[in-house]
Amino acid sequence: MSDQEDKKIALVTGAGRGIGKAIALSLAGEGYHIICVSRSESSCGAVAEEIVSSGGSAEAHALDVSDASAVEKTCEALLEKHGLINILVNNAGITKDNLVFRMGEEDWDAVLNTNLKSVFTFTKYLARPMTRKRWGRIINIASVIGLTGNAGQANYSAAKAGIIGLSKSLAKEFAARNVTVNVVAPGFIETDMTSILSEEQKTAILGVIPMKRMGTASDIANITTFLASNKSDYITGQVFTVDGGMVM
Ligand code: NAP
Repeated sequence: MSDQEDKKIALVTGAGRGIGKAIALSLAGEGYHIICVSRSESSCGAVAEEIVSSGGSAEAHALDVSDASAVEKTCEALLEKHGLINILVNNAGITKDNLVFRMGEEDWDAVLNTNLKSVFTFTKYLARPMTRKRWGRIINIASVIGLTGNAGQANYSAAKAGIIGLSKSLAKEFAARNVTVNVVAPGFIETDMTSILSEEQKTAILGVIPMKRMGTASDIANITTFLASNKSDYITGQVFTVDGGMVM
């Protein structure tokens, strides 16, 4: 990008670790200014510093994405500062697994509010300037579990399936304004989220992945970076599974 005015701005939630960090670094490599959001200042701050120290441009905001009023305040401040955020990647997510009879209401609410409601709130506050500018990209990170369901993950699968329905509605609302909304549904990716799986669980998972390996955060960052670019101009309302062939 030749001129500062043309520099696109991307906000990535959950940018402190794992998939979000890989997405932030990859988009920074394309020359975008990156707004790194995560729960703790230490994680999003470190990623922003890493981007800046390698010659890129970034800032960090510690924020609980499940807190709608905190999201509203942060988005207002960011729009005041930047005028427009061109690319929104809703990636922040948590799991709180249990069989449904043992699942507490707090665990249901925490997973739905963090994984799904945050997509609604960030979009609500950041999409309007994109529609005015007639260019925008919203990329939501769901999961194959939102397509297949999984015993012990009723809250997580409901949130991830919800992201898919929400994204398709948003895609229809924004299409005429050239703002695209797409979903990436990762399979099993090596991050902190999956590091808690036992060796037995990992062996069982590898048994159902035709490519016989877990994915990397870069596998998800690569497609997200494509969807954030002009090269994906005519693609909206789609779900891209990135899972080594597990769900076909
Ligand atoms: P991760 O390593 O656990 O990192 C999660 C990131 O989200 C962290 O940066 C964390 O912030 C942030 N976060 C969590 N709750 C938040 C909140 N309430 N407010 C703000 N930030 C919050 O997870 P991951 O494996 O990279 O997963 C990223 C996304 O991919 C999630 O939506 C997940 O559901 C999805 N996914 C992952 C896999 C997988 O196999 N890993 C598969 C399918 C889908 P801190 O760093 O401050 O804690």
